[in-house]
Amino acid sequence: MPKINLKLLKNQIKKAIGSAKDLKELNDIFKRYLGKRGELTQVLRSLEKLPKIRRAKVGKEANELKNFLRIKCDQKAIGIKEKIRKETAKIEWIDITRPGEKPVLGHLHPLSQVKNKAEEIFQLMGFSMVEGPEIETEWYNFDALNIPKDHPARDLWDTLWLKDNYKLKTKNYKLLLRTHTSPVQIRYMEKNNPPLRIIVPGRVFRHEATDASHEINFYQVEGLMVDKKVSVANFKAIIQEFFQKFFKKPIEIRLRPGYFPFTEPSFEVDMTCLTCGGKGCSVCSQTGWLEMMGAGMVHPNVFKAAGLNPKNWQGFAFGMGLDRLAMMKYKINDIRLFYSGDLRFLNQF
Ligand SMILES: [Zn+2]
Repeated sequence: MPKINLKLLKNQIKKAIGSAKDLKELNDIFKRYLGKRGELTQVLRSLEKLPKIRRAKVGKEANELKNFLRIKCDQKAIGIKEKIRKETAKIEWIDITRPGEKPVLGHLHPLSQVKNKAEEIFQLMGFSMVEGPEIETEWYNFDALNIPKDHPARDLWDTLWLKDNYKLKTKNYKLLLRTHTSPVQIRYMEKNNPPLRIIVPGRVFRHEATDASHEINFYQVEGLMVDKKVSVANFKAIIQEFFQKFFKKPIEIRLRPGYFPFTEPSFEVDMTCLTCGGKGCSVCSQTGWLEMMGAGMVHPNVFKAAGLNPKNWQGFAFGMGLDRLAMMKYKINDIRLFYSGDLRFLNQF
């Protein structure tokens, strides 16, 4: 039977708790006295061996000490936690008056922005937006557009051919990645009777070396207007209106003779140089004009290929590069930047 000195034990406990510096130390002290083999635990266990008279007295004192230890430990723990909280608050404080940080939001690619703007302007002039497949047959890409096989004009387009063929009606045609958006002219006229006004924005592909102004794929917007009486004058007015709305500047346009197998007559379309306003500068090679697109009056053979009688209908068609429009609008000098995925470039728009 160990000699029990509860008073001494109480002083030891008081001292130990008082000097505890953190929660772990406090926990160790608690275990030292009230753990499985704790000093106070042993006292409490030995009570039954005491004579009855002493047992009541010592038991009462020991239980009081047990409560004392518990309360002191709890109080100390609260004190330590509060101290930790204050210290952390000194380091990790929150300034609730500070403005919040905005989450990073993406935005549309410059080519999408230009495409949307072009669509919006043409739609205001009564044109509908139409799409077509990027994988085409040589029929729609060439034959139906008055570019027969072995015709030298077919070499104007450097084509990416696919391995597979596709059966159209009774004939097998080679498949390819469309070299222009013009096939959609035929596809649309096969299913829709004039009068019609459409634009066809979309991606086209060329098998050629890339440089600052050439990419293996790029975007075009095709235009087609067909009615009983549609003239070059209608075309000029519509295109001039488009450029003025697109560049938000007064713009003149001029037509030069050109050649495309699917239009007759064909022309190249120039507009006033945006940099010098027509006076002549290095951007326009001192001419005052910038080359913008190819266009012309729909060739009778194209109407025939689409199942329309060329004697009944007239129309104009044009095709321009969306990349070129974007390059002019934003003064970008390398087409490859659009496809680089470089955020330093893209974040400027
Ligand atoms: Zn100029």
